[in-house]
Amino acid sequence: MLKRGFEQGRCLLVRLDHGADIVKQVSDFLDKEKIEAAIFFAIGALIKAEIAYYDQSSHEYKAISVKEPVELVSCTGNVSLRDGYPFLHAHAALAFSDGKVIGGHLTSGSVFAAEAFIQELSGEPLVRTHDSTTGLYLWDSGVNCEGRS
Ligand code: ZN
Repeated sequence: MLKRGFEQGRCLLVRLDHGADIVKQVSDFLDKEKIEAAIFFAIGALIKAEIAYYDQSSHEYKAISVKEPVELVSCTGNVSLRDGYPFLHAHAALAFSDGKVIGGHLTSGSVFAAEAFIQELSGEPLVRTHDSTTGLYLWDSGVNCEGRS
């Protein structure tokens, strides 16, 4: 297990722009505001989206394309550093017009309307590095880690 403590930083509510890609817009915002560690929540509606399922055997993401308007029932994620830039890792639950829900790793989504909550965390940001066991970019201990247990 890897752990790191943080202090609370800015608490931000953000209305996302209609038609913009949710992941890109939030990523650009994080970069502009120099937010390197945070927790992220969003709700709203998307015009279309792409989520993904990570195949644990092949170590590859399987894309799931959602080509119709959906409710963004819940989107949660976190922010850390990858390749020196703030990186948003978010998962989403999306509901169709009949109420059925699908979910997965959020790759992209065109915003119809969305409201995000970003809780900035102050402290040494976590850094993602490639993990050969999972094939994913996971938080690494780095040099300033408080501990691994
Ligand atoms: Zn994911």
